[in-house]
Amino acid sequence: MSLKVNINGQLFDKEDAKISVYDHGLLYGDGVFEGMRSYGGKVFRLQTHLDRLWESAQAIGLQIPMTTEEVGNAVQETLETNSISDGYIRLVVTRGSGTLGLDPNRTSHPQVITITDHISLYPDEFYENGLEIVTASTVRNHPSAVNPRIKSLNYLNNVLAKMEGLRAGCVEALMLNSQGHVAECTGDNIFIVKAGRLLTPSIDSGILAGITRQVVMDLATEDGIPVEELTLTRHDLYVADECFLTGSAAEVIPVVKIDDRTIGVGTPGPVTRTLIEKFREETRK
Ligand code: PMP
Repeated sequence: MSLKVNINGQLFDKEDAKISVYDHGLLYGDGVFEGMRSYGGKVFRLQTHLDRLWESAQAIGLQIPMTTEEVGNAVQETLETNSISDGYIRLVVTRGSGTLGLDPNRTSHPQVITITDHISLYPDEFYENGLEIVTASTVRNHPSAVNPRIKSLNYLNNVLAKMEGLRAGCVEALMLNSQGHVAECTGDNIFIVKAGRLLTPSIDSGILAGITRQVVMDLATEDGIPVEELTLTRHDLYVADECFLTGSAAEVIPVVKIDDRTIGVGTPGPVTRTLIEKFREETRK
């Protein structure tokens, strides 16, 4: 049976799920999205993702033509129809189809799309042994341009950095902000552990306010680990005791090498291991 895709509350076979080539989501990357995970048929932090989607839409002046409850129900219904228990959910809202000009006033009917699929996980080996990453030369979007807090359909900035990572044989790449400070990776937030403290770039470093990031900070605090959001440089990363990334798809994933420098002892550290385990427990609740 073919997977179903939900467009504006209606289910279509994957092959028949189509939107207009005049949609400004395609023509200009004008729209917003969310990437979520389901565990045991339940979407992890669904309401938080919906809130962030609405904030992204608000920031670009896009009125989502459904209520959060309706979108939440559409997501849940699509998962159930596709019998997906542990899966990945992509929720997309486009500006809608319009003219070939930029003017968003000349578009109509934003499209609300839910795609659910089986998750393609990173191999276990990455979680056991840790990742190697490199710094991309592509700088993260300046917050005064398209603010990285907006999860917009315009991800070319990150795609270019991802290509640099892949060219270097890495599945993730570190992005700096326009001041040269650490921002985040192409699809994940970054953390380090130094002298027993958990440190991560603050939101005003120009990053997405990751939902996994917040869950991990809360879990660490609960566990008595001091957490600090601050400005980090690449030097801080190079001399860290531990490093890991967080994201809805990757969850918590250790990093053991950055720009060819070994981090800590070169294997996932104790704080990282604890947080990987605690995060997994949280998804099973
Ligand atoms: N940063 C970027 C640029 C992202 O695209 C994502 C999500 N894919 C993240 C961080 C992680 O955010 P979350 O934990 O909410 O998935």
